[in-house]
Amino acid sequence: MSFAEIIGQTRIIRLLRRALAQGLLPHAFLFSGMEGVGKKLTALTLAKVVNCEDGASGDCCDRCISCRKTASGNHPDIEVIEREGPFIKIEQIRALKRRLRFKPLEGRYRVTVINNAQHLKVEAANALLKVLEEPPAHNLIILTAIETTALLPTIISRCLHLPFQPLATVEISAHLCQTHAIAPERAAAIARLAAGSLSRAMALLDEKQLDRRNWILETVAQIHKSRIPDLLAASNRWKGDNLDLLQDLEWLKTWIRDLLVQRFEATDSVGLLNSDLADQVATMASHMRSEHLLQIFDLVCAVQGAIGYNVNRRLSLETLLLLLYGRATGQTTETGADLPVAAREQFTWPLRIGD
Ligand SMILES: [Zn+2]
Repeated sequence: MSFAEIIGQTRIIRLLRRALAQGLLPHAFLFSGMEGVGKKLTALTLAKVVNCEDGASGDCCDRCISCRKTASGNHPDIEVIEREGPFIKIEQIRALKRRLRFKPLEGRYRVTVINNAQHLKVEAANALLKVLEEPPAHNLIILTAIETTALLPTIISRCLHLPFQPLATVEISAHLCQTHAIAPERAAAIARLAAGSLSRAMALLDEKQLDRRNWILETVAQIHKSRIPDLLAASNRWKGDNLDLLQDLEWLKTWIRDLLVQRFEATDSVGLLNSDLADQVATMASHMRSEHLLQIFDLVCAVQGAIGYNVNRRLSLETLLLLLYGRATGQTTETGADLPVAAREQFTWPLRIGD
């Protein structure tokens, strides 16, 4: 994979190429943006470009030994740090610090990619801050993050921050047609559901993922007709399936987003991500108030953030479904607008359905 082959992100690639051409590469980058928009891929491609033996074109050749070693994950100067368990730990940053004392072994640069840096534990973040303050020469550190709110402002300020945009639907559907033998109509439908994320689009090629999304959204669409025991059973099944809960919650976010679109612009289903469920969107949108949808969206984001901290998954999902039920049936909770904040504190707020 070279810069020329990266889908979308043309502005970012142009900026990186210009920095390389002018010899103005900063010592640290922060690539932020939603899952599946090419942050890690761009980081690894940049690692390849700065060490390519034929770097004259401002891109990598993908043929030299350095490029081949990078592509296979065997380049001694290129390392990706991922979280171990729920966090990136201080020991991992200390090990990085020790490696930085030495010059690169083979390449012009040692490149360290800290993937999903939002998982840095506080002590690890503080240790990284020191590394970013005094970076040794010939080192490039690239942080990627889904959202930057969990990062220390001092870390953000020491990096060149490049926000990655969601990919365009046409870019995703064209890629799906090119790489998989599927009909353009199906590619377009998947691309719409993927809402800017190529990794989500790839996952949707799997029928099981599509069934999963359908089950979640149909459960939510029927919530105003549900009974509390059914919702508790659904939470239990949802949690017990042990699949990618973060992805499930992304589906829920696309659904809430569609309800808001429907409330603001109730004319057609063209702007809906879940356009195949347009009737259900219209029905549920008529039961919900916009401010309640925004609260629920915040709560979904809070649950996504809390999952990394080993919260009680079943309790979190029950809370979400009960809140949705309460809002869809016109019932309220005592704490109203404070819900998302309270949710971050382990969901200990009193949910009083039926007040
Ligand atoms: Zn090369």
